[in-house]
Parts: sequence; structure tokens; C-alpha cells
Amino acid sequence: MSIVLVVNSGSSSLKYQLIDVEQSQTLASGLVERIGAAGGHARHRHEGVENDSLGSHWDVAVDIADHEAAFAVMLEGFAAHGPSLEAHAPIAVGHRVVQGGARFFEPTVITPLVKINIDELSALAPLHNPANLEGIEAAQRAFPDVPHVAVFDTAFHQTMPPAAYTYAIDRELAAKHRIRRYGFHGTSHRFVSRAAAEYLERPIEQLRMIVLHLGNGASACAVDGGRSVETSMGMTPLEGLVMGTRSGDIDPAVLLHLERRAGLDTDGVDRLLNSQSGILGLGGHGDMRDLVAARDAGDEAATLALEVYTHRIRSYVGAYAAQLGRVDAIVFTAGVGENSAVVRELALAGLEGFGVEIDPERNAVRGSEARRISTDGSATAVLVVPTNEELEIARQTLQLVRA
Ligand code: AMP
Repeated sequence: MSIVLVVNSGSSSLKYQLIDVEQSQTLASGLVERIGAAGGHARHRHEGVENDSLGSHWDVAVDIADHEAAFAVMLEGFAAHGPSLEAHAPIAVGHRVVQGGARFFEPTVITPLVKINIDELSALAPLHNPANLEGIEAAQRAFPDVPHVAVFDTAFHQTMPPAAYTYAIDRELAAKHRIRRYGFHGTSHRFVSRAAAEYLERPIEQLRMIVLHLGNGASACAVDGGRSVETSMGMTPLEGLVMGTRSGDIDPAVLLHLERRAGLDTDGVDRLLNSQSGILGLGGHGDMRDLVAARDAGDEAATLALEVYTHRIRSYVGAYAAQLGRVDAIVFTAGVGENSAVVRELALAGLEGFGVEIDPERNAVRGSEARRISTDGSATAVLVVPTNEELEIARQTLQLVRA
């Protein structure tokens, strides 16, 4: 059997998928929302079952006190709507953990010591690691007889050289507070770079590529021979590209200016840069679909927001091309990267002189499979490759427990 339960536990939500890894097939998926708040809500879908007495999915309003209650709701979903967890018992549970620091560079079986380490890394990811840990504790109580594995968002980037991950600040201070670049979205960058090599039918060891994960959060990654050598997110997921609500790169002195001159305190600056910036702050829409619609309707703020968003991507493509020395493929993925032809077109516009040429007709085709959107003459292949972080977590989990 090769069934793995994948758990992504946030502070107020629990997402899960039951995956048959050998078939690359999701058997069930679900989402429990508003944990610890009023107006909780759960959805559970038995994949591949179109309609039974309950409809195509199970959707309930239920108050959920904590993560333990969220798992109880999840189990109810399986019991009411299938598939049966007796007949499709997971042989392991794979957990997404955001921050693995410099300690975790590969998937790791969760022991009491590993939990202490994840907890300790909360200082670097106060919004994420505590919630991941609550999910782990609750899942271990719900599934006590199988191994639980942590798959870290940062792990793939642990191959970055010191020159790429070191900030130019006082070394001792940085070491004391573990201030360095870690990078995130690693599970996605790993999955997508491998899927791109498969699509190109070339060994990944021979390929140099730039992966652009453009979702609500966004990051670029330079992948050399299957290893991350540079990525745009830093100590936190705030650095780098312009995102839905995050500013990405900004002169750090702007923060000082905001505190000294604009009357913002530290929490205010945090909120501004993480939740009120990006395309939301610039163009009034945090969702790329709405932003593009506003631009198409002639909205000037939305037009500038889209230009800033794509200008930043192009800057990173140029920087990573220089770091890699050669680019065999540029790969778009995640919600925006997979769906927005206009973002892809604008981001790579004007790079023909560097051997990067998008074919407008190919770019306009929508699809859920990996595809090439560059011209046949383009020296660099430009691809769209759907990401699947859950499948990647399930694969890594299975590989580890079988080893
Ligand atoms: P993700 O974080 O990967 O789920 O991506 C979510 C984001 O993808 C949303 O906020 C949207 O901005 C974007 N998105 C989804 N579908 C489309 C689309 N058809 N066109 C443009 N952007 C899209």
C-alpha cells in the first residue's frame, strides 16, 4: 500500500489530502476553517465520487474549538462520505512545516526531539511553526500507530551557497539570532523543477532553470542540476517578488522612516508590509484576476500594480540568469503562474535578445498539464508546470518511511 495522509495545519485552518502515491491519485481532500473562532466550516470531498446521497462533497457549518476538534471533524468527513479509512488506511502522515531553519535539510520522521526543534524554530516563524506543531500533536493523537513525517518548506533551499544566503550585516549578531536567508515554497520548487525536467525529457542534473512560483505568496528559485542555488524569499516569506498582499523587496530604511515619520509602530509596519501591500496595496486588489480585470477596464492604479509586479519578476529572471550562467528553462507555476497569460507575457517581454521568446498562441492556451509556451526557436524553453505540493509531501513521506 502507498497511501499517505498529507496535513497542512495553519493557525485557524486544517487542509488535508489522502493520497495514493503510487497512482499519484488524491482519494480525498478537505479543509476545516475558522478553528478557534465562531462560524467554523468544513468541507470534505471523496475524490472521483461525483454524486451520492450527500452530493459531490460534504460541507458543514460547525464550531471547531481547536486542532484536535478539527481532526475529529475530518474523521467524521471520512466516516460520512468515504473513502473508508479502514480500507484505505494511511501508512504514514506527512506534515507541511514552514520553517526548518538550518537544521532540517530533508524530510524527517517526527520524534519528541524533532517537535522540540520545530517549536524552537517558532522564533523565526511565529505565525506558522506553532500552528504546524498543533496540527502534528492532534494528528499523532488521531493516527497514533503510523509514522509522522515533517516536510519543510525551507529544506530544498538548504543547498544555497553561503554567498546567496548571507545578509551583509554583523556576523555575530546574525549568528546569534539565526538571521540569514532560508527561502520558502521549497516543496513546490522541488516538485516543479523535477516535473519540468520530465516534461523536457532530460536528466535534471544537466538542467539549469528558473522556477517562478506565483501564487498568493510568490518566489523565484534558481535551480542548478536539481539543487536550489538561490531563491527570492529570505529569512521570512516577505522578501523578493511582489505578492498578493506582501511588498517583497523594499529599502529597509523605509521601515525606519515609517516608524519615525508616519507614526507606525512595529506591529503597524508588520501589518502594512505583510497584509496591506503588494498588488492589494498598489492596485486595490489582492487577487490577480481582479487586478487584471481592473487594468482592462482602464484603472491606472491597477495598471501600475501589474507593471511593478511583472517588472520585479523580470529583474529576478535577469539576476538568476547571471547566477546560473545559462538558462535552459523558465518555469511558471502556482495560481497566477499557471493561469495568467498576461502576467507571463509581461514578465518575459523584451527578453528575445537573451533567447527567451514566448509564443502568444501557446501562451493563451489554458490547461492543467505541463506545457511549453515558448516558440520553437526560443533558446530557453518557457514552460507552465502545475505545482502539487501535497503530492510532493506524500512522495517524500513515503520514500522516507520505506527507506
Ligand atoms: P495559490 O496561492 O497558488 O493558490 O494562488 C492563488 C492566486 O492565484 C489567487 O489569489 C489569484 O490571484 C491567482 N489566480 C487564480 N486563478 C487565476 C486566473 N485565472 N488568472 C489570474 N490569476 C489567477
